[in-house]
Parts: sequence; C-alpha cells; structure tokens
Amino acid sequence: MTCSQMLDYLLKREHVAQIHNFATFETFQHHFLTPEGSRFYFDVFGYDGDLKGSPEGVVEYYEQLSALSGKEIRPLKGMSAFVEALAKSAKSLGAKIYAGGDYKILSINKQANLFVVKTPKHEVKVGKLVIAAPPGSFGNVSGKVAERIQREHAFQSILPRPAFKGAAVYRRAWWEDILNEKDKLYPMERFLSNSDCLGWTLPHSASRVLQGWLVREKWGEILKLPKQVMDGEIHRALEYKFNRKIPKPLSTVYQYWNEGAWYLQKPGSRISMKQVTDWAKRPFPGEQIYVVGSAYHPYRGYSEGAIISANNALNNGWQIPIPRPPQQWQRTHVPKSFAELDWRNIR
Ligand SMILES: Cc1cc2nc3c(=O)[nH]c(=O)nc-3n(C[C@H](O)[C@H](O)[C@H](O)COP(=O)(O)OP(=O)(O)OC[C@H]3O[C@@H](n4cnc5c(N)ncnc54)[C@H](O)[C@@H]3O)c2cc1C
Repeated sequence: MTCSQMLDYLLKREHVAQIHNFATFETFQHHFLTPEGSRFYFDVFGYDGDLKGSPEGVVEYYEQLSALSGKEIRPLKGMSAFVEALAKSAKSLGAKIYAGGDYKILSINKQANLFVVKTPKHEVKVGKLVIAAPPGSFGNVSGKVAERIQREHAFQSILPRPAFKGAAVYRRAWWEDILNEKDKLYPMERFLSNSDCLGWTLPHSASRVLQGWLVREKWGEILKLPKQVMDGEIHRALEYKFNRKIPKPLSTVYQYWNEGAWYLQKPGSRISMKQVTDWAKRPFPGEQIYVVGSAYHPYRGYSEGAIISANNALNNGWQIPIPRPPQQWQRTHVPKSFAELDWRNIR
C-alpha cells in the first residue's frame, strides 16, 4: 500500500464521520491505521508535523490540498520572485514600502475613527487597517486594537508549526558520484530519512546546492549555538545519512521558523479553517480591519493562501473584484482519491 492509498483509507467517509470522537489527528490516525501503520506511514512519507493538529482541521487541510492538480510550478528563480513582483507592482502604482526593524509595528491603538500604528521611530494614523503579519509575530504587537484581534477565538484557534531549513553550496555536486543506481540522487529528488538525522534532503536542479528541511524542534535548539557547531553537526548528519565521506561546503545558510512556517487548527478549537478565513475577511463588522496571510486561509503554508486572503481583503474593503485564476490553471482532471494525486509539486 502506498502512502496515498493509506491516506485514502484513513479518510474514508465512514471514518471521517467519526472524527469528532478524536482529540488529535494522531489519535484518529492511530485508531484507523493502527499505531504501527501510522509509524509505517510516517517512515514512508517523512513528515509527522500534522499529528498534533485538530483532526477536523487536518482533514480540511488535506481536502484543500487535494484541490491542487500537482501541476502547479514554483517560480524559476525561487519563491522570492513573488515578493519582488509584488514590490515592483506596488511601487509602480505609487505605493511606498518601508522595511526593516525601524518599521516593525509595535502597537496598534484607536483614536476617534483612526487607527494609530506605532513603529520604533514613527507613528501613522490610518482609516483602514490590513494586518498581514502571521499569528506568532502579530501576537507580540501591543495596543487595544491588536489585543482585541488577538483575543478572538478564530485568531487563538490557529496552531503554528515550526520548521527548519538549511542549504549548502559545494565546490562540486558530490551526490553525482554515487554510482549505485538505487542509491543515486537525481536533481530535485528527495532523500527521506526519519531517524534522528535530517528529514528531507534534495539537490537543486543542475547546481551544486543541496537543501534539506525538517520540522524537528531539535535543530532550532542547535541553531542557537555558534555557527561552526551547527555546520559541524549538519555535516556529520549528512555523512551519517548518505553513509559516506563528503566534502566540506563552501557556504551554508540555515533558518528556523520558531513562530510558525505553516499552520493547523488547535485540537479542541472546534472552528474550521474556512471559518477562520471568513472571520479574517472582516473580524469586526463595521470596522475597517482586514486580516490577510496564508495562516488565515485553508491553503496554509502556501503562497496561494496569502494571495487569496489578500484578494478577499481587497474585495471586502475596496470592492475590487476577485480575479479569476488564469485559464491554464483551470482543472481539466479532478483526482478522485489521494492515490491519484501527483504530490511532487504540492509537498
Ligand atoms: C521552508 C518553507 C518553504 C515553503 N515553500 C513553499 C512553496 O514551495 N510553495 C508555496 O506556495 N509556499 C511555500 N511556503 C509558504 C510561503 O512562504 C508562505 O505561505 C507565504 O510566505 C506566506 O505569506 P504571508 O504574507 O502570509 O506571510 P509572510 O511571508 O510570513 O509575511 C509576513 C510578513 O510580516 C512581517 N511582520 C511580522 N510581524 C511584523 C510586525 N510586527 N511589523 C511589521 N512587519 C511584520 C514579516 O517580517 C513578514 O515579512 C514555504 C514556507 C517555508 C517556511
């Protein structure tokens, strides 16, 4: 049985009908796949970060993912292409962009009909407010307006999941030296391992860059140590994983998203991702406040969620029509099961 077939079995209509009896997605999975089956699923799939979420939320999230075709592509120059295109477009329309620590929002209050937004050095008064910060960082913003949003049940129901990512550039692509056909790692092919070492490792296409990511808090802890300790530990873990001596990299970069890289629903929250999206469109009826970002849309952890929720705000606050997806994105074939889905571009 493949992972996707296991998922199809787990999410059978009669199983999902009983989902309210389970506290977490983990207990739901253990019940229907058995603890051993769940362990096997994790070993094959290589990711267990969803297990702590509310079972209803995870099923809703998977349903949202199954609406993707698997034919979606990432920008050729990487995800930053989105941010660059957005900045270019905003500037061409006369917008000014302020970034960096001096412009970090510290508090949001209200004075008469205006929102008062404070950064370390500036204060701005605005009539309409779009909150585009994820729940973790927004949780640190003070002030009456910010705290009112933070107290909302929809806001509190979101469960941030941490993630770690590292990338290394080598003088040459040493993984191409692996001659044994069954051990060979091709560009963009993932090497999974679920023991105590590195989760997913993949070489970039036609380059000397190896990247890896995982959701273990352990790596976030090690990252607090000096950089050379982290470099040494990752090098050791890679040699262990690939079972060979490997050359030292020319440079490395690591990032740990402790406040959340993507988001589920908290167990027991009894509020769906779609309800969070509806709330975010206009948290307080009659107030010009809009909350956007991938954390507030069922495509959590995907740029698509951030874009759709921004479209929702533009539609609600400025009556700008929601754009239709480009023609070539419209689905011709709808997979009937997870086993039919091409996951390669989705995960
Ligand atoms: C490792 C990793 C891999 C990913 N891979 C993919 C992928 O392949 N495909 C895909 O579609 N998506 C991917 N994503 C997800 C994608 O990056 C996010 O969905 C997207 O960036 C979410 O956009 P956002 O605007 O909601 O939040 P963010 O991109 O997090 O932007 C929020 C911004 O708010 C700023 N901010 C926070 N607090 C404050 C404050 N107090 N004052 C001022 N500014 C503040 C932050 O600095 C940040 O710039 C990945 C994410 C990670 C972490």
